[in-house]
Amino acid sequence: MLWVGTSWKMNGTLGFARDYATRLAKALADGAPSGVQPFIIPPATALTVVRDCLGPDSPVLLGVQNAHWEDAGAWTGEISVPQAAEAGAALVEIGHSERREFFGETDATVNLKVRSTLRHGLRPILCVGESAAVFEAGDSVEHVLGQVAAALADVADPSRVVIAYEPIWAIGEHGREARPADIAPVFAALADEWGDRVTAILYGGSVNPGNAVDTLRVPGVDGLFVGRAAWTIDGYLGLLDIA
Ligand code: PEP
Repeated sequence: MLWVGTSWKMNGTLGFARDYATRLAKALADGAPSGVQPFIIPPATALTVVRDCLGPDSPVLLGVQNAHWEDAGAWTGEISVPQAAEAGAALVEIGHSERREFFGETDATVNLKVRSTLRHGLRPILCVGESAAVFEAGDSVEHVLGQVAAALADVADPSRVVIAYEPIWAIGEHGREARPADIAPVFAALADEWGDRVTAILYGGSVNPGNAVDTLRVPGVDGLFVGRAAWTIDGYLGLLDIA
C-alpha cells in the first residue's frame, strides 16, 4: 500500500476545507486508486468540516498535526488524542521539524505523544529528519535512526506506526529537492531496522509531480507526505494519480 497524504499546516479557511474535501469526495467516489491510502491532515479547526464533506465511507484517513500526551487537563492551547479521535482523526502527526524547532518538541515529548496515540488506537505519523549540517557531515543515517529509536522507546508493538522521513533541508520553500541518491541510504537503513515492524515509511520534503515517481522508486519508500504541492485539490489529485 502506498500512502499519499498532505498536511495543510496552518493554512486554509473553512471555505477552503469544504471546497477541497467536496472535490476530493467526488474524485474518490468509486474509491481510492488501487493500492493507494490517501490521507489529509488539515488544521484541527477544519477537521470536522473535512470529515463531514468526505462522508462516512470515504477511503481518506484524517489526522491532526499535533496532540498532547495527556487525555485532558490544564494544558491551555493543546488538544488531546481522544479529542482528535472524536473529531474524526485516525492519524496524529508527531515531531514535525517545525514543531521540534519552534515549539520545543523533544525526543522525550515525541515519545510520550506516540505512546498516547497508540494507547488510544490511532496511528502516529512520526516525523524524523536531519538538518543540512548533519546531512553534509554524512551523519543522516545515525541521526534518523536515533530519532526513531527515541520516539519508539518502550513501544512494545510499533506495527501501527507510520514513519515519515523528512530531511529538514528539503522541506518548504527554502528547501532544496532531494535527489534519490541523497535519501536512499536513510531509506535503506530505516527499511532494514523498521521496515517489517511498522506500517509504512514515507518520504516528505519538496515532493512535486516532477520528482514523485523517482522518489517512489527509492527502495524502502512506501509513500509520500506532501506539503505545498498538495495544497490545491488538483495538485493532490495529480499526486494520487502518479502513485
Ligand atoms: C513538510 O513540511 O512536511 C513538507 C513535506 O512540506 P513541502 O512538501 O512543502 O516541502
